[in-house]
Amino acid sequence: MKDFLKDLEDESFVIFYGSQLGQAKSIAEGLVDVAEEYDFKTKAFELNAIKDVNDLTKLTCPIVIVTSSTGDGEPPENADKFWRKIRKKNLSATTLQSLKYTLLGLGDTNYNNFCNCGKVINRRLQDLSASTFHPPAWADDATGLELVVDEWIENLWPALETLIRPDSNQSITTMSKTTLTVPSCPAVSLKLEWTEDGGGDATCASKVDLRNPLTPYPLIDGDPVPVKLTKARILSRFGALKTALELTVGFTEESFKFEPGDAINIICPNPVNEVNRLLERLQLLTKAGRTLQLSVKQGAKGKIPVFLPATVTLRDAFLYYFDIRSCPKKTFIRLLAEHTSEENEKSKLLELCSRQGSSAFEETIRFASLSLLDLLLTFQSCMPPLEALLEHLPRLVPRAYSISSSPLSSDKEFTFAFNVVTFSKENGRQYERLGVCTGWLSQRSRVLLNKNSKELGLENASSDLEAAMSALTIDGEESDSVSNEEIIVYRRKNQNFRLPEDIKAPIIMLGPGTGIAPFIGFIQHRDNLKKKGDSIGEMCLYFGCRYKAKDFLYEDELKALEGGALTKFYPVFSRDDPQTTVKYVQHRMEENKKAVIDTLFNQGGYLYVCGDAKNMAKDVRDVLIKCVQSVKEVTEGEAKTLVAELSTQKRYLQDIWS
Ligand code: FAD
Repeated sequence: MKDFLKDLEDESFVIFYGSQLGQAKSIAEGLVDVAEEYDFKTKAFELNAIKDVNDLTKLTCPIVIVTSSTGDGEPPENADKFWRKIRKKNLSATTLQSLKYTLLGLGDTNYNNFCNCGKVINRRLQDLSASTFHPPAWADDATGLELVVDEWIENLWPALETLIRPDSNQSITTMSKTTLTVPSCPAVSLKLEWTEDGGGDATCASKVDLRNPLTPYPLIDGDPVPVKLTKARILSRFGALKTALELTVGFTEESFKFEPGDAINIICPNPVNEVNRLLERLQLLTKAGRTLQLSVKQGAKGKIPVFLPATVTLRDAFLYYFDIRSCPKKTFIRLLAEHTSEENEKSKLLELCSRQGSSAFEETIRFASLSLLDLLLTFQSCMPPLEALLEHLPRLVPRAYSISSSPLSSDKEFTFAFNVVTFSKENGRQYERLGVCTGWLSQRSRVLLNKNSKELGLENASSDLEAAMSALTIDGEESDSVSNEEIIVYRRKNQNFRLPEDIKAPIIMLGPGTGIAPFIGFIQHRDNLKKKGDSIGEMCLYFGCRYKAKDFLYEDELKALEGGALTKFYPVFSRDDPQTTVKYVQHRMEENKKAVIDTLFNQGGYLYVCGDAKNMAKDVRDVLIKCVQSVKEVTEGEAKTLVAELSTQKRYLQDIWS
């Protein structure tokens, strides 16, 4: 990582970002692009480019920090060194008295420590006497980052103007396009040429080396390894709202080790049919098999995407490297508007990306998770040049799945469970589809299920199997042609979501839906230890789902484990009894509040929360605070502090996703 000081010229301000999945980086880069329009000179660096906190005193200009948080409020990988340095106690309280800064934190209120990385950095900057020139803001992915980000950016420019050019009469208000405040159009600095090889083969994809990505994937822990899917099992039953599957993964690489609580990241491609449809809409299908040659236009500032191999065909670029499904951001919609010829369509796109159109953007784009193809099918006169897409589409990133088995059961295979994500053709979505990764995995599961059922003589499938098979089918998708070849996975960096080292420590687990997965691994693990004669701590499990008869995942296994390693098991069903007020895991936990508080505060126990339910993690925390308040007879504030202490001691751990 380069030292930012060596790269400075006469910047008006300097931007630093801490970015795990690219959001903060892309905001920082967007600021660099727009700054020029306001006549500011700036550069963006990773936070880790600050080699010494004292280097900030050498700056004569203000700084802007944009940072996300990962896991339970940890810093992103490219901000971790700075995070450690700025938290050092030996820094003098006046170290940064000359520094002016502002900060934008990105976070998700579903997690315990919302925007923790940004908040800690902000607090430390204040402790070290730095002062803000524009109020820090905290954007929440649970409600839509853009709601806060847009306003913060809009007010950043006048704040910089006042600070940097106080005598200027220039007043920056909005960048208007008629009466709308729209982001500036992202520059297109790539030049595209085609090599004369290949041809227009519309169906086949060339071999791509996914094992050796040019730049590391996020949260990588160990090398990507090839594995084989060996078995599929349906966990949900007939009539379940979501089809849940379990896959068994076999591997031979000695280097691949895992522990209960670990997750794997699966490297998956986009669906071939969707890529072809997108290329067709862009009138590029005939060039799909040709190799791209990208360069940066002379004098332009952009970069060729660092993750894209130098020689790649157009189809492979869209299949393996670009996220063609991700919900377009406002700046991307601005880019599409630039290339839309029909006036009504252009106005609509401009409205959607404008500040005034924020609620329309939330309702029509974000809520429905529209894809690029949805927009291109809706706005028929939009024809963005390929270079623009290649420069501004985000990278396709691997998807995470919690391992649901213990290496003590087998160290050559593991299992994981997932819900097949389905998107119906409604709410502006122009085509029916499955989730990128779960759709791809479900194609493979279908092949394995067919094979398994033939082997077991179940060709006349049971209703569960039939229902699951039909849920795994999208009209027009190739399916059974998918062979059971290798897939590439890697172990995801684990943010402390592991069993306690002390095997006697009692634990409480809350895992609704597929959130149960890592806990199956936990219980299996201690069950193995118990069978070996070790004395293990209590394990209490709270599992929740809609209907007992439809989506009680791992019912048989859990019942078999109950009374053994699994000391207490509390399932709860939200839809079976409309009268009941005990619907969710947190309600069940509240019923046992005395035991829960005793485990956590008198026995040094651990609380684990895992799952995807929106707001679930927040609701669990609120109920836990209520339980502490009531059982320990303390004020709400004191209860919050006690719960926060559990988090700090890494005894309140979450693995949640939305
Ligand atoms: P994508 O194509 O990425 O689509 C998912 C996106 O669509 C999400 O943004 C979602 O909010 C949105 N969406 C979903 N349904 C709809 C809808 N009907 N309408 C509008 N928008 C919608 N998942 C599991 O199933 N099991 C696990 O054990 C598991 N463990 C995880 C562990 C970690 C640490 C993390 C971070 C995630 C985990 N996940 C798990 C989630 C998983 O990684 C994927 O996000 C999920 O499977 C969807 O991937 P996909 O590619 O199929 O969907």
